Amino acid sequence: MISLAIPELGSWEGKIFVGILGFSWATYMWEEYLAYRQRRVYKENVIPPKELKNIMERETYDKARAYSLDKSKFGLVEGAFNQILSTGIMVYGGFPALWAASGQFIQWLGFSPEAEIPQTVAFVCIGSLLNNILSLPWSAYYTFKVEQKHGFNKQTPGFFIKDKFKKFVVSQVIASPVVAGLVYIIKAGGDYFFVYLWGFTMVVVMFFMTVYPDYIAPLFDKYEPLPEGELKSRIEELAAQIEFPLTKLYVVEGSKRSAHSNAYFYGFFKNKRIVLYDTLLEEYTPLNEKEGEKEEKETENKEKKKTGCNTDEVLAVLGHELGHWKLNHVLKGIIISQVNLLLVFSVFGSLYKYSPLYNAFGFHHSQPAFIGLIIVMQFVFAPYNEILQFLLTMFSRHNEFQADAFAKELNHATNLISALIKLNEDNLGFPVYDPLFSAWHLSHPPILERIRALEEKKKE
Ligand SMILES: [Zn+2]
Repeated sequence: MISLAIPELGSWEGKIFVGILGFSWATYMWEEYLAYRQRRVYKENVIPPKELKNIMERETYDKARAYSLDKSKFGLVEGAFNQILSTGIMVYGGFPALWAASGQFIQWLGFSPEAEIPQTVAFVCIGSLLNNILSLPWSAYYTFKVEQKHGFNKQTPGFFIKDKFKKFVVSQVIASPVVAGLVYIIKAGGDYFFVYLWGFTMVVVMFFMTVYPDYIAPLFDKYEPLPEGELKSRIEELAAQIEFPLTKLYVVEGSKRSAHSNAYFYGFFKNKRIVLYDTLLEEYTPLNEKEGEKEEKETENKEKKKTGCNTDEVLAVLGHELGHWKLNHVLKGIIISQVNLLLVFSVFGSLYKYSPLYNAFGFHHSQPAFIGLIIVMQFVFAPYNEILQFLLTMFSRHNEFQADAFAKELNHATNLISALIKLNEDNLGFPVYDPLFSAWHLSHPPILERIRALEEKKKE
């Protein structure tokens, strides 16, 4: 039976309930307002602004505009659905219902009804399964309608389903022991359990950062060493020049998923790797195109525009990426997130026995540790998370300018500008932004601002 699970509004739990739901709707309206402002920019800028003259052809501009509008409209409908869904879950007591169902499930498996760790693991698995089922149609529509229409989708329905399924299984295998560990520590850690909780998450994060590239990422995508040649030797030169401890250079078959392109590096201490998307490289036949198809494609390509960057431009992009390393942006990010976690966990440490918090979510008879953790991290901290996210976005934009300046110091400014232009074109990025939307959402500065900053730097 489905019945309302709204607490009595005058009580503490009622106030918490209203506060949390109210804040959720306030942020939703704010996000929609920003999205509406940005949509207006797409609609109104039918003719490209003058400053784009040398940056985008008219045809690409029109395509980028159409693509952005479609994405924005999709986001509008999906966002409304999710907001109504999450409100429904709160109002109808979705969390306690799922918790009870998980309890029945583990009893059926033979566990005692008091066994909180197995119940929590079941809760996370079933919850994630439901979440996946509910988001599947949206994800499928986005991939096969929106991305497909604009020429980005490279997935077949078979790949899509298999990929989703694999992701679900792998994330359950990873999440289950972690969740079990968290609950165990909260229960057994005594007064200062939050310190152990913090240490535990730090170890878990480090562990997965170490094993992910070698053992988890290859389950989903094909990584091949970058073939010997000019590009490889020049990347090695660049790494040596700035003392980047490069150990491996990979190309990942991003082209199997989409035509969007990227590059990144990862690894600890003296063991760093660089990964290039095959879609980033102009002179690279996507790994997933078979030999026969290749010839076909080559004749086809003569008519079609080339995508990706040439060797100089790829080096400029890497100059930027390695700037993030040289300037300690990654380390700073890890430190910020660890300090933040310690703060969140210590607040959780003082709140986790506070029963109105559980009552507000319909947990009247039990106070499961993991539920408390979700309530505090996700709901009590919601306003704080919004502010933190905004500051991190600002921080990221600042770092992007710094990394661009670093690439310029390596004499890559001109190539970086042309790479930015090409990548923006390949990815159909729309170059005009509403200032408020841009300030709130963009982790990378708009392309025009980056080019302007690079041009300024070149003059110095
Ligand atoms: Zn960057």
